[in-house]
Amino acid sequence: MRKLADYMKRLDESDADEDKAGYGAGPGGRGSDLAEKIAAIKGKRNRHKALLGELDRTGEDQISFTDPDARAMARMTKVGVGYNVQLAVDTKHKLIAEQEVSKQVLDMGLLAPTTAAAMETLGVERIAAVADRGYFKIEDIEACEKAGLTAYVPKPIRSPVARDGLFLKEDFSYDADKNAYVCPAGQELPPRYYGKSRENVKVMYCDRKVCKSCALRPRCTAKSYRSITRLENEAILDRMAARLATRPDILDRRRESVEHPFGTIKQWMNQGAFLMRRLDNVRGEFSLTALAYNIRRAITLIGVPGLIAALRA
Ligand code: SF4
Repeated sequence: MRKLADYMKRLDESDADEDKAGYGAGPGGRGSDLAEKIAAIKGKRNRHKALLGELDRTGEDQISFTDPDARAMARMTKVGVGYNVQLAVDTKHKLIAEQEVSKQVLDMGLLAPTTAAAMETLGVERIAAVADRGYFKIEDIEACEKAGLTAYVPKPIRSPVARDGLFLKEDFSYDADKNAYVCPAGQELPPRYYGKSRENVKVMYCDRKVCKSCALRPRCTAKSYRSITRLENEAILDRMAARLATRPDILDRRRESVEHPFGTIKQWMNQGAFLMRRLDNVRGEFSLTALAYNIRRAITLIGVPGLIAALRA
């Protein structure tokens, strides 16, 4: 908008110069073309202003002209405009236990609600939920624990130390009894508290002295010492990391399970794109798709007679 305002100002100045020089905006003159272009730009600017006002009013950060509820979402290396489909799939039979269509761009925060709904559908009090790195959010993992869900979500490697090839936080182990981290050199890093006020105290684990003379320092930090931060509720993530370490195969099982319905729906059922527009309609469309998938899957598992018998029971 600033650039456009600047451009308009320069055009006004240029118009004034032309008027002084005797070129007018009369019919067929150079000025008439320019007047049309200016009118088009002004119209565009007004439309953009109205759209910005709409974003301010709704608190949204995107507007889609094709479907007002659809959102631009990352798909592998591309961006597509659409919806975020959440599925909870039973690993044994590959049946859909819960499905939801959302316009939320990221998966973060969707694990606990989707899995809790699946628990209700299945009528169970405990469940193990496996999800990919996109669902890694401590608040969501905590909500899962509280609801009796055992979550398995691998930690994304996003930190700058990973980019620089230095030791990751996972290379440091936390000793809860001592409230200290043990670093790759076997040194104990005690907590240091800092903050501007009592209410705003943060904790950081480090020992400047041992880092100073450490032979591993070039692999650990580019600074004079390495520090590790710890969230107040980070024990939740420690417990999940310990669970994942005992069941490394569980992530492969997740891929096999959840990709089965997605692959079947897209390839066999030819549902690569939604036919409907607007969130409510798309939700209706996908719930029918999921139902059709489940019926088809049940027929594969127990046959038509078995399905009819199960429905009668
Ligand atoms: S630099 Fe410090 S934290 Fe890193 S391995 Fe050495 S002693 Fe441990």
